Amino acid sequence: MKKIAIIGSGAAGISAAASARKTDVDAEITIVSEETVYPYFRPALTKLIGQVEIPPGFFLKNDQWFEKEKISFITDFNVKKINSGDHLIESFNGRSLKWDSLIVATGGSPSVYPEHLKNNSKVTTIRSYSDILNLNKKLKKLTHVTVCGGGLLGLETAWFLKKSGMEVEVLEFANSLLPRQLDETGGEFLLRKIENCGIKFHSGTTLNEISDEGCLLSTGRRIKTDHLIFSMGIRGRWPEFSSDSINTVRYIEVDNRMMTKYPDVYACGDCASIDGFSTGLWMDAVKQGNCAGINSAGGNCFYSPESVVAMLLAFDTHVMSYGNLKGDFFEKRTEKILSRIYFEEEKITGGYCIGDSAFSSVVLKIIKNGIKSEITAPDWIRVTK
Ligand SMILES: Cc1cc2nc3c(=O)[nH]c(=O)nc-3n(C[C@H](O)[C@H](O)[C@H](O)COP(=O)(O)OP(=O)(O)OC[C@H]3O[C@@H](n4cnc5c(N)ncnc54)[C@H](O)[C@@H]3O)c2cc1C
Repeated sequence: MKKIAIIGSGAAGISAAASARKTDVDAEITIVSEETVYPYFRPALTKLIGQVEIPPGFFLKNDQWFEKEKISFITDFNVKKINSGDHLIESFNGRSLKWDSLIVATGGSPSVYPEHLKNNSKVTTIRSYSDILNLNKKLKKLTHVTVCGGGLLGLETAWFLKKSGMEVEVLEFANSLLPRQLDETGGEFLLRKIENCGIKFHSGTTLNEISDEGCLLSTGRRIKTDHLIFSMGIRGRWPEFSSDSINTVRYIEVDNRMMTKYPDVYACGDCASIDGFSTGLWMDAVKQGNCAGINSAGGNCFYSPESVVAMLLAFDTHVMSYGNLKGDFFEKRTEKILSRIYFEEEKITGGYCIGDSAFSSVVLKIIKNGIKSEITAPDWIRVTK
């Protein structure tokens, strides 16, 4: 009976286990996790800021599921070392597990986290359920919170902090808002919505220091802050491999079957990259996990990356962005909505919509299907640069 071990019970680890089970009904499948709770929907963590109740559906699997699928789930098993030669994983507290196939699905950790702030009780990140429990305990004593990093996750964090009664400021290194998802005009449109919610956004700056007096920004400005949340992107994390250079790179490199360079070792989700690229998104982690699970159990699956839709539901508005924002565009603008659909050589390449989720779906359909005939005047105005 084949022994398949999976490190990590996130999106990638759980889908890997389910797919491995479908592929090999007899395999001995074990998931180990450093966490002590059932697998959960990580993207919902920000929505738990300041909340006591856990929304239904947050926890994804329970004992019945593990039993039905005949998958062993071992919690509080923090893997220290992967011994690829002896086919063994070892935990920090002296436990070990043998495997024939290993799937590393260990996710990510903050990519920018200045060393001198690591043990500062005024600074946190949001990556796990326990991070949220700790933050919620602190929130009761806080009034001013600063979010360092104005990407999708940082903005969502700022919104839920505001909703829980905090005074919130956001620091963003880039000069415009969401430069990967919006153009400058879109950034300004969204910024007005953010400011209307009472959140202060500082672009073109970052944090120099945090002290009892507040945050000192790189621009020299000082702002009042009781607590700082770092949200400046992630990098892959994984336990030490018994051998070599894999310990020094940003992600575990895999091929399109999610195979690492070690025989019988797969990696998937936020810890893995293909040609150096990792999206850091839930659905990709699920798809990669499925693929790793099938292959680890003797099947044959190829993963092909697809363009992903970026979404933000915050500040009483909705933001959707997809594809490339280059070239000329069609624009639809009302007081509430700004949408642009970009095209090059008459072919639709991407676009965004701020303001309305129903209209976002219409825009996304047009972009994905490339149906230019649906972009008609007087709603849409063609803008040629
Ligand atoms: C707050 C937040 C909001 C997000 N919002 C969105 C969103 O709106 N849309 C979207 O697409 N994506 C979002 N994401 C990203 C998405 O959650 C991740 O892409 C996805 O969770 C990656 O899944 P994964 O299984 O690769 O890693 P993870 O979900 O991080 O799971 C990895 C697991 O491995 C465990 N682990 C790590 N190291 C060890 C070890 N040595 N031993 C044992 N266990 C270990 C970790 O504790 C963790 O449980 C968000 C992420 C966060 C944190």
